[in-house]
Amino acid sequence: MPQLLLIEDDPAIRSALTRALTERGHGVRSAPTGMEGLQQAVDDRPDLVVLDLGLPDIDGCTLLQMLRAVSSVPVIVATARDDERETVRALDAGADDYVVKPFAAEHLDARIRAVLRRGTSAETVAALAVGGLVIDPQARTATLDGRTLDLSRLEFDLLAHLAARSGTVVSKRELLADVWHLPYGGADKTVDVHLSWLRRKLGETATEPVYLHTVRGVGVKLVDPGA
Ligand code: CA
Repeated sequence: MPQLLLIEDDPAIRSALTRALTERGHGVRSAPTGMEGLQQAVDDRPDLVVLDLGLPDIDGCTLLQMLRAVSSVPVIVATARDDERETVRALDAGADDYVVKPFAAEHLDARIRAVLRRGTSAETVAALAVGGLVIDPQARTATLDGRTLDLSRLEFDLLAHLAARSGTVVSKRELLADVWHLPYGGADKTVDVHLSWLRRKLGETATEPVYLHTVRGVGVKLVDPGA
């Protein structure tokens, strides 16, 4: 049974979600403040953390950075409103996905299951080379011209997925389904945000692409710039 940690200060939301997620087959523990949540995440080693960004004692994104310094546990953040800047900040701080309040427990449950599946479905394939890029899915390392790229888990999965299909246009829908395990789409913004970070780490931009080429209205493809 997956063990979840719910960090949420609103007692009504906390108890409703605890009940609903328990009914859906998860083990649920909860914490009413950020610092208690951080302590529990370290002590109990949950399989996934649901983190409310609006906490009384500490900014949710700051807490996420502190958690990321000590743990790679998957994190879904709950934002109070559809605030793009806050969402991007949370994804940048290492969140795996997000939900916007108010959300139904079944919606959160679907996201939780998708994130948990992602963690256990690593492709076991040989190293891939595209131009100066070398990606080792087993070691989960990527280098560009011999330099190691510092990639988040999602950035790595995205790069590996595109590299395995180099020269082919991959749609955002396919990326959401295969990298994010969200077959019904929904978080398009997430794909764009991660693509832009990946570009930055590859040292290129959308307007002057080298490896990552956007095909407007279709998707994105990774190409060998020397080919
Ligand atoms: Ca709150």
